[in-house]
Amino acid sequence: MTDDHCIFCKIITGKIPSRKVHEDEQVFAFHDIAPWAPIHFLIIPKWHLPSMAQLAPEHAGLMGHMMTLAPKLAAQEGCKPYPDGGFRIVVNTGAEGGQEVHHLHMHVMGGPRPWLRG
Ligand code: 5GP
Ligand code: ZN
Repeated sequence: MTDDHCIFCKIITGKIPSRKVHEDEQVFAFHDIAPWAPIHFLIIPKWHLPSMAQLAPEHAGLMGHMMTLAPKLAAQEGCKPYPDGGFRIVVNTGAEGGQEVHHLHMHVMGGPRPWLRG
């Protein structure tokens, strides 16, 4: 279920160290190494799935879990409450979508502006 050549699979197994935000049966979350915003972490499935382009109906539960987990982890990591605070979710998909790491990941960004990007 993991890909030996994938850096995010290596983060899940601990072969590459990361600053963990959360872990459960389905997902792993960790701080981005090159943050665009004061708070910037990634939520990834615990098994190798290249991108959103490969999603099938059986992934609905996983994606729902990631989406509903994001606000909880954003608050945990210090994002101020909606509507004055909040956060941004980005899922880059494919080369033209700006995806560099081909293991599906949800960027969750927040904190006071200005941000480095966006
Ligand atoms: P993408 O451009 O594929 O949507 O985003 C990949 C993200 O993964 C980038 O924001 C990049 O900084 C982050 N990243 C790449 N390699 C590592 C790593 O080894 N550790 C961590 N924590 N983040 C990484
Ligand atoms: Zn992977």
